[in-house]
Formats: sequence, C-alpha cells, structure tokens
Amino acid sequence: MKRLFSGIQPTGELHIGNYLGAIKNWVELADKFDAIFCIVDYHAISVEYEIHEFSSRTQNLAAGLLACGLVEKKCTLFVQSHVQEHTELAWVLNSITPMGDLSRMTQFKDKSRQNPDNINAGLFSYPVLQAADILIYKAEVVPVGEDQVQHIELSREIARKFNARYGETFPEPKEYLTRGARILGLDGQAKMSKSLNNHIGVFEDEKSLREKLRTAFTDPARLRRSDPGNPDVCNIFTLHKFFTEEGVVKQIDGDCRKAAIGCVECKKILADRMVSHLTPLRERYEDLTSNQEKVRDVLSDGFVRCSGLAKTTMNEVRERLGLFRP
Ligand code: SF4
Repeated sequence: MKRLFSGIQPTGELHIGNYLGAIKNWVELADKFDAIFCIVDYHAISVEYEIHEFSSRTQNLAAGLLACGLVEKKCTLFVQSHVQEHTELAWVLNSITPMGDLSRMTQFKDKSRQNPDNINAGLFSYPVLQAADILIYKAEVVPVGEDQVQHIELSREIARKFNARYGETFPEPKEYLTRGARILGLDGQAKMSKSLNNHIGVFEDEKSLREKLRTAFTDPARLRRSDPGNPDVCNIFTLHKFFTEEGVVKQIDGDCRKAAIGCVECKKILADRMVSHLTPLRERYEDLTSNQEKVRDVLSDGFVRCSGLAKTTMNEVRERLGLFRP
C-alpha cells in the first residue's frame, strides 16, 4: 500500500466544511492507503491562538476525527509536536529552500494580510514544516484541497533538491485532490469558517442546526416562492449533494428550476438528512469526550509508530548530510 499523509490544525470546533472537505475523504482513503493523519499543532502556533484552550482543543479534535469514522479504520493518528523529528527535518529542509519560493506562496500572502501585526518567520517557513511532515514518513500521496496544491508542489521541489544534493532519499509526494474541498458557509459567499461565523458544527445539536439552515442564503435571485431558482448557485443544493439520496437531489434540481418547490421545504429536507447523518457522529463524539482514555490510547499508539518511522528517516538524513556521529 502506498503511504498517505494529511494534517489538520486544532483551530476549533469541527464544522461541516472540514468534514466534507477533508475528514469524510480521510475515512474513505484510510481503506486504500497506509494512512497517517496528524493534528498539526506546531502549524497552529504561527498565528495568534488561545493558549489555555490549546491542549483541550487538540484532544477534542482527536475525539472528533475518531467520531467521524476514523475509529473504525486501520490508520494512524497522532499529534505533530509529539514527534520531534518533524521540526528537526524542517530545519534541514529550510537550508535548501529558496526564500523566493516561500515568498511566492499564496497562503503566506493571505495570512500576512490577515495578521499584519504578526508576520513571523514561522508563517513564512510554514510550507517547509509541511514538507517535513510529509517527507519524514516518505509519504507519496497527500490529500488536499485546491488551495494547498501550491504547497505540495513546493514539497515535491524540496524533495527533488534534497535528493539531487545529498542522494536519493525521499519520494516526490503527489497531491490527491479531494472532492468538496471548498464548502461555502451559510452566507453562501465565503468558505465555511468558524472565524466568519458562517458555519454549522459537525456535532451541533439538532435545534441549532435546523435554525442555522433556516436562515441560510439560497439563490439570491429567487426573491419569491413563485420565482424559478437556480440550484447551481445555491449552497443549500451543494449540501444536498453530500447528504441527500441521488434521486431526491435530481427531483429538487428539476423542481427548483420550475418553482415547484420552495426554499423552506427544500431546507427542511436537507435538515432531516443532515440530522440523521450527523446524530450518530455526535453521540460517538460525546462518548469519546467523556471517556478520553480511548482517545489517548489511539494517540499514544500513533506516536509510537510515527516516532519509529521518523527516527529511521532522520538517521538516514543525518548520514546523508555528513554530520559527525560519535
Ligand atoms: S429550492 Fe432549494 S435549491 Fe432551489 S434555491 Fe431554494 S434552497 Fe436552493
């Protein structure tokens, strides 16, 4: 089996955008690859964060990932900062990564705009740590959304550079584009995000989920019930494609275009489907967060495996670099 690596930051409550854009795909990919999933906490400290909540967020994210389906899969889940070799390899890779390449990264430009008072070196070299995360496990496949493709291209370039200078060591990782990587928020405008307050939490209770859907934006040109709608520009319809049976989605598509269904009814159908899909996940999440032992066991097993793999790679890297070993 080829090895796959992917990471997620412990930035807060898991929302539907995370679930459809990444985690649901992870659960499927875990059957096809030797999958290593990582909570990338060192990445998260390159911007302002809540120090006192950070540890529990990390633990709750692990519980959330397991509740979303990873608990039943044969895969490895661990926390980045537990395996020190990630940052060690990042330093080595920093030494072969041109500043010009890093300054061209779209995410660096975006984050610099969002955090004008905290444009730090960590934010700048973030893609190098990301390359280290992947290369330390010699992973060949990295599931990402389109906004991360540039970083995987850079990881490939860094692997190529290292191999050319020090000898063949790393495979060149390839991106695996995931479906649904860009889920819009309830405003139908921006990508779903907790900071924009346009999200639905994966583990949100039924009442709150129904209320949020009730006020969500639809086709902006459909002002009255009698106006025909355009599902292609409606975020509610996008969500239907993930949660509702194909036949019903087709029916809504046709009915919306001839105003045979109203948005209130359409949203109710979606809410019913989402509630029945997400309720078992929420119950499992509540169970895992009230019994953290299971979560700790999974992370501890993940650490043992990843630490062994990372140590082997770093020994090889140190030898290639020509470092003195007593
Ligand atoms: S009927 Fe459904 S798909 Fe059509 S605009 Fe309303 S919410 Fe969107």
